[in-house]
Amino acid sequence: MRKLAHSTFLSIHLLLLFHHTMIKLISGYQMSNDLTASNIHQIPEKLSPPLISSVKKSSSASTFKIALFADLHYGENAWTDWGPQQDVNSDRVMSTVLDQESPDFVIYLGDVITGNNMPVANASLYWDQALSPTRSRGIPWATIFGNHDDAHFEWPMEWFSPTGIPQVRCPKQCSSVSGTLEKACSFKGTTRLELIQNEIHENNQYSFTKNGPENLWPSVSNYVIQVSSSDQNHRPIIYLYFLDSGGGTYPEVISSAQATWFENQSYAINNDSRIPELIFWHIPSKAYKDVAPRSGIHRPCVGSINKESVATQEAEMGIMNILENKPSVKAVFVGHNHGLDWCCPHEKLWLCFARHTGYGGYGNWPRGARMIEITEKPFSIKSWIKMEDGKKHSEIVLA
Ligand SMILES: [Zn+2]
Repeated sequence: MRKLAHSTFLSIHLLLLFHHTMIKLISGYQMSNDLTASNIHQIPEKLSPPLISSVKKSSSASTFKIALFADLHYGENAWTDWGPQQDVNSDRVMSTVLDQESPDFVIYLGDVITGNNMPVANASLYWDQALSPTRSRGIPWATIFGNHDDAHFEWPMEWFSPTGIPQVRCPKQCSSVSGTLEKACSFKGTTRLELIQNEIHENNQYSFTKNGPENLWPSVSNYVIQVSSSDQNHRPIIYLYFLDSGGGTYPEVISSAQATWFENQSYAINNDSRIPELIFWHIPSKAYKDVAPRSGIHRPCVGSINKESVATQEAEMGIMNILENKPSVKAVFVGHNHGLDWCCPHEKLWLCFARHTGYGGYGNWPRGARMIEITEKPFSIKSWIKMEDGKKHSEIVLA
């Protein structure tokens, strides 16, 4: 892979605020004196830019808890009544999970929006709405892309008039933004880069999202986050890798360039595989199909819905081979299939689905979120599914 000539340091300031026994994390650029702890992480680049942010876990809590929000599909059928209503419902699912589980971090696992339903100039409006339950609670997050996020607008059949001439119906707020119809309505979709740049620049101090190395574009959300110990040396507890599995405006694959990027990153920061690693992307790899339970869900697989067949990426270009052979990689988490929520073992790692969180997208299975809990001493990774009605199920120990 191409090496970038320049070398910079990425530093994230982390401020810890005590709130009962839970500590919330804030990444930002200002330090204030009344906070109980703060530190700056600077991680030197080795191969290509590491793009690592550090999320520091609490000193009083022994665990670091992550909520996965998958397939929210905001902005679906925005021109109807039921479209906006399902976004309200998705807000409620996330709020319930956040209030009941109090996670330290949130991962938006792709298909945050349904870009192909959006005749708007900038789909970041909907993207931003999806982030707001997490942001309003001061919880840091990271996002990755699914196959719907940057998709081109598709004309609904019902928009075609009897004479066959489509009627353009742009949302009111869009039409009033600018004078011309072309500016108000976009049929091209908002690009991955635009979505990320808007997220990062919209004063989102809690966003850990990065638009990864340029040599991997148009695959954009490729980056690493380090979760650090709260002890004095801030040693890494776990690395979270995010990969863009494509879809939307380009093929549904993890390319060999991304696989090489992962390999180089992991070697640069964790060459002895001492630190456990978790992997997040949207579309299942073909290995998911190999391990999928045929009917029902039986041990060693754990989960509650197995209602459709695995819709995999279009090709396998080496990432799974690398992951299978790296002892530090404990699990892969994907969304995409709304009717699957299981974890199954594959070689020496776990392949897990999240849980359909949004009211947008196909399927009426009850909504929820997969939770991941990392304990530092003794080290363990536990996961379960939290439902909108507050019930918890499918608990599993992944490491
Ligand atoms: Zn989806």
